Amino acid sequence: MSWASKLSKPYRIETGKNFRLDDFDPAATGHLRSKQNAQKLLDESIAGMAKLQDKLYAQDRWAVLLIFQAMDAAGKDGAIKHVMSGLNPQGCQVYAFKTPSAEELNHDFLWRTTKCLPERGHIGIFNRSYYEEVLVVRVHSDILKNERIPKELLGRRLWQDRFEDICNFERYLSRNGIIIRKFFLHLSKKEQKRRFLARLDTPNKNWKFSLSDVRERQCWNDYMSAYEEMIAATSTKHSPWYVVPADNKWYTRLVVAAAVVDTLQMLQLEYPEVDPAKEQELAAARAELEGKKSPAASES
Ligand code: ATP
Ligand code: MG
Repeated sequence: MSWASKLSKPYRIETGKNFRLDDFDPAATGHLRSKQNAQKLLDESIAGMAKLQDKLYAQDRWAVLLIFQAMDAAGKDGAIKHVMSGLNPQGCQVYAFKTPSAEELNHDFLWRTTKCLPERGHIGIFNRSYYEEVLVVRVHSDILKNERIPKELLGRRLWQDRFEDICNFERYLSRNGIIIRKFFLHLSKKEQKRRFLARLDTPNKNWKFSLSDVRERQCWNDYMSAYEEMIAATSTKHSPWYVVPADNKWYTRLVVAAAVVDTLQMLQLEYPEVDPAKEQELAAARAELEGKKSPAASES
């Protein structure tokens, strides 16, 4: 097993059976004690991602979708930046999903994210996603009114239906060669408070702060129940969740990067094979560059 596989596996959830959020410690750092301790692996993960992404792009068959969900200040942006620093921007797209626009509210809940799915050979990153529909919309059920779903359809099974629809959608994508990996950055309430206070104390971080973040914090328990149910209902072998400890940012980044490296390694990517026709084309190009007649041209 590679280091990336070993490091990320404890946090990967492939079945919701017996899943409990309390079994996961937000402050965990595996066998590593400090960022200095992890630096070599952090560097290795970046280098590993770059190499694998190059093959993914060249092969142009699979697409990879990385989904990030978390409470405020859990480090989504930092984790995404870290992953991005190891990728060629040409083969990677990042989308952030905020409160839906009027146009988005005119459609079904998967519409806006479907338009942003990664192309083959690419890595797509979603900063928030269609999972908001079973998180913020569930916790603040008044938001649901804005979606104008016919009232006949708003039964007690609504959230179960959404889980089912999401699972079906992800199975469909996986059958089409889109590999999905989902990350819940698991922050403790205590650490969130510390980070909010740091945002208030540091002028450069003030812009990141909004009063609504503190209001959301009041719904912490409701959010945790929603996350727990969501992970239990939507973890599958082909589209697993990772419950990533988020109280130490360096460890969060390492686990996410390791999971990405592990995923790409699993695809056993190779550069496309050069067939005889392509070989001839390359020989002709070389001959032309060197000012010689190509073998193919001299034959005719
Ligand atoms: P972040 O907090 O991710 O760094 P941000 O602070 O830049 O992003 P916000 O406007 O705070 O931006 O976050 C987007 C907000 O939009 C969140 O409160 C999120 O819950 C909300 N949101 C996202 N998707 C939906 C949705 N489908 N329905 C309602 N609200 C949504
Ligand atoms: Mg925010």
